[in-house]
Amino acid sequence: MTRLVGDLNPPTRLLCGTGPTNPDPRVLRALAAPLLGQFDPAFTAIMHEVATLGREVFQTSNPRTFAVSGTGRAGMEAAIASLVEPGDRVLVANCGRFGDLFVDLAGRYGGRVAQVTAEWGRVIDPGAIADALKREPAKIVAVVHGETSTGMLQPLDEIGRICRAHHALLVVDAVVTLGGVAVRVDDWGIDLCSAGTQKCLGCPSGMAPITYNDRVERAIAARRTPVVSNYLDLSQLQRYWSPERLNHHTLPTSMTYALREALRLVAEEGPPARFQRHRRAGAALKAGLTAMGLALFGDPERRLPMITAVHIPAGVDDEAVRAQLLEEFGVEIATAFGPLRGRIWRIGLMGYNAELRAALAVLTGMEHVLRSRGVDVPLGAGVEAARHAYHEGIDSPAGA
Ligand SMILES: *Cc1c(COP(=O)(O)O)cnc(C)c1O
Repeated sequence: MTRLVGDLNPPTRLLCGTGPTNPDPRVLRALAAPLLGQFDPAFTAIMHEVATLGREVFQTSNPRTFAVSGTGRAGMEAAIASLVEPGDRVLVANCGRFGDLFVDLAGRYGGRVAQVTAEWGRVIDPGAIADALKREPAKIVAVVHGETSTGMLQPLDEIGRICRAHHALLVVDAVVTLGGVAVRVDDWGIDLCSAGTQKCLGCPSGMAPITYNDRVERAIAARRTPVVSNYLDLSQLQRYWSPERLNHHTLPTSMTYALREALRLVAEEGPPARFQRHRRAGAALKAGLTAMGLALFGDPERRLPMITAVHIPAGVDDEAVRAQLLEEFGVEIATAFGPLRGRIWRIGLMGYNAELRAALAVLTGMEHVLRSRGVDVPLGAGVEAARHAYHEGIDSPAGA
């Protein structure tokens, strides 16, 4: 028989782009476990565990906590598809590419979209959201918690209070933040929050953890028109994930195992320790890049720990540097989109990779690649500064 293609043997990379990240080996092992039928009691018990662990990670008591089958974007689309009816007003807090995505989704499902915007590299002023709601109420306010396109963290607690006061539902994209920084769904008054598996949860991509409260459930139940999407209809999905087990699609068995293991890893480590690990790794990388003479991008007060955005030095070819890093060091970092393309790189230290070792590998690779291209980068300064910042983080109670 002719061999059409060779053995599957992908190279081993250090994935420090914006996702996927390298999963913990325990998650990879979970993917290899034997399959079960979707209504096998052994499998429905696993679904139940995913929901229970999910409530812990989202810091919520919402009974409606489960996972949409599909990547992070599927969770966002399920939220918008299920909540937005033609003519509903949707206010999007938009300061990056994922804010743009909410605008696109809300428009596609017939929403009347208004936006509160900030320049890319900044976050939205909650007062501007309050002003917009005073001018005209909205059914839904959609906000991105961690704007991966710019590396910015949007504070949410105040926005939750504003939305409650104006009877709007707060829908949050926590794809890049869940498992890396605190996402306090109940305390912050988030009505619906969706995430993804491939970022700080450290899984392959393919599931979108989601949680929502009874306000959202009532809003969906009160729709005048059916949800346009069958696959992403939360009212059907919640029945599939409830003891009723109403048949919908076939849950991706192996990804459900992987998500369970990833959530178990978060619970085992404990959220405070996990968030501190992400902060320390991010601080080490930022200190290292700065010591190399590179300039960090965006509002210094609002930087994400897990995604570091850094200016590309003048005259340096974005693509050529990333290609050389990948080929010579096996290290992947990410380019940028829209107005930031060719201007910044984005480096992710998420989940299993939120460690000093990954920061040092990126810094070492970048130092040598940039030097080989004639950029004046001091030898060893990045690694030295990163180690220093990392160990300072251990001792400082402020980093706790
Ligand atoms: C990655 C990401 C998404 C999209 O997730 P996919 O898994 O690529 O579909 C959405 N929002 C944010 C903030 C992200 O970082």
